[in-house]
Amino acid sequence: MAAFGDLSSRLTETFKNLRTKGKLSAADVDGTVREIRRALLDADVALEVVKAFTAKVRERALGDEVNKALNPAQQVVQIVNEELVGILGGEQRKLQFAKTPPTVIMLAGLQGSGKTTFAGKLAKKLQKDGHTPLLVAADLQRPNAVNQLQVVAEQADASIFAPEPGNGVGDPIAVSKAGVEHAKQKQYDTVIIDTAGRLGIDEELMRQASNIRTATRPDEVLFVIDSMIGQDAANTAKAFLEGVDFTGVVLSKLDGDTRGGAALSVASLTQRPIVFASTGEGLDDLEDFHPDRMASRILD
Ligand code: GDP
Repeated sequence: MAAFGDLSSRLTETFKNLRTKGKLSAADVDGTVREIRRALLDADVALEVVKAFTAKVRERALGDEVNKALNPAQQVVQIVNEELVGILGGEQRKLQFAKTPPTVIMLAGLQGSGKTTFAGKLAKKLQKDGHTPLLVAADLQRPNAVNQLQVVAEQADASIFAPEPGNGVGDPIAVSKAGVEHAKQKQYDTVIIDTAGRLGIDEELMRQASNIRTATRPDEVLFVIDSMIGQDAANTAKAFLEGVDFTGVVLSKLDGDTRGGAALSVASLTQRPIVFASTGEGLDDLEDFHPDRMASRILD
């Protein structure tokens, strides 16, 4: 994974310098924390997340657990690791299924974030796990969006519910509701609703997504965010949290040359868990997200 390459090497370098020390002075700790702060900011982690993170690391690094440690430098690395796991959401969070099927999963996010691709990946994964997903095409803004979901559904060998062609633009809320009804009738056990995205945050989009949410009462609303969007991640995530609210996050394009900021900011800023990482254009490029594994990769 190309992601985090820079951040990872910067942190490794910082800790290498620390390892040459025996006991750590307050100045050593401050110097290290300053380096961590710079590295995180350069990786496009949101400022408020960086501030909270470094304050916590500093406080712990100046405390007894480091002072009394046999290997203080190693202890600081351990603290950074633990705090990284913390901002990435702590425990792994799995997809939540409804007690009574169908489980309704709604997707939200900006256009181009990777929603439709993720819909196909999730359908494929669910089928592999023995589920019977139905994809619902509720992105009726872009003329090609329904086709695109159809292509993805075909690749995933999954069923799709889409408005009849030639029926005009259609109402995404009605289509979503009809999709869930169809799933009930035909006994699909999961419904994946692909909603419209816009290039920027836009009130109408938020209202539409929020109305789809109210109409279909999803068990999960997954916010798909492009890991490459850097500092915009904070505002985008907050806007979707406020406008639609979501239960979990999908980080997409983690295979790309991202500096990692979005990944490191979004769980902490929104207090919503990252459930999946999308790591390529192929439908098999999907991983369950493990905060501890991600932290280890960054500190590798
Ligand atoms: P949507 O507008 O949110 O539905 O986004 P799409 O699913 O159409 O994805 C936009 C573009 O990003 C497409 O060219 C996808 O092939 C690409 N894409 C989606 N997910 C990933 C990913 O995890 N990695 C990479 N490298 N590309 C992705």
